[in-house]
Amino acid sequence: MTSDEKVRRDLILEEMGLTQWKLRGQGEPAPVEAPVEEKTVARQSPPMARAQAPVTRHSSPVTDIDDRRAAIMRMEWPALKAAVAGCTACPLCEKRNKTVFGVGDENADWLFVGEGPGAEEDAQGEPFVGQAGRLLDSMLAAIRLKRGENVYIANVVKCRPPGNRNPEQGEALSCEPYLHRQIDLIKPRLIIALGKVAAANLLASDASVASMRGKVHQYRGIPLIVTYHPAYLLRSLPEKAKAWTDLCFAVKTMQGLPT
Ligand code: URA
Repeated sequence: MTSDEKVRRDLILEEMGLTQWKLRGQGEPAPVEAPVEEKTVARQSPPMARAQAPVTRHSSPVTDIDDRRAAIMRMEWPALKAAVAGCTACPLCEKRNKTVFGVGDENADWLFVGEGPGAEEDAQGEPFVGQAGRLLDSMLAAIRLKRGENVYIANVVKCRPPGNRNPEQGEALSCEPYLHRQIDLIKPRLIIALGKVAAANLLASDASVASMRGKVHQYRGIPLIVTYHPAYLLRSLPEKAKAWTDLCFAVKTMQGLPT
């Protein structure tokens, strides 16, 4: 690594609050881990993959839901984007300003999945553009990735839940075919679930982020790693070191995947 690259990396790690930590294997100590749960983005409702048909006033009979899903599963990018832009499948459509489809390289090896748009994302129509997004960009840069370059960023739900609450079960279930189809089209080599809501929905598990970290899970045959949500990291500085550990684990996992 050149000295310029080292300075840049140190700046990024500083932005992540990780100035005391260095990359493993360079004679520096590894981050110390403590068993602390992710509390602030925990969700009460069970994961969507285990859930039954959504019960919202926008829901349709089960056959319509199956037909809608089947239609989405046949869509290519333009139709999928148009379907999300005009979606009225759940009540989140009523208060949104913009749908937030996802952004990045549509052939990316890396897919990062968050929870749902916040206020800034709802205004701009792009995921992770607020404070949490700036931290996510720093996290990407720390492992030499850049938004849009071999990385795709998407969310479990495409419309902002009011007041930044967690998406409800029916809302996540209504939106699930969109993410499913995005993943089918992107064919990422590795998925990073950012926080409890993404992990719960992708893995159909109510387990804590703490217990899901450090393992390679599978989402329909695609390796998936769980780490903390950047918004949670902004509120829980000590957990940033753990997120850094998770990112290093993700890089190592990616390097070990068959090409
Ligand atoms: N949090 C998320 O989970 N997704 C976004 O797009 C923004 C904030």
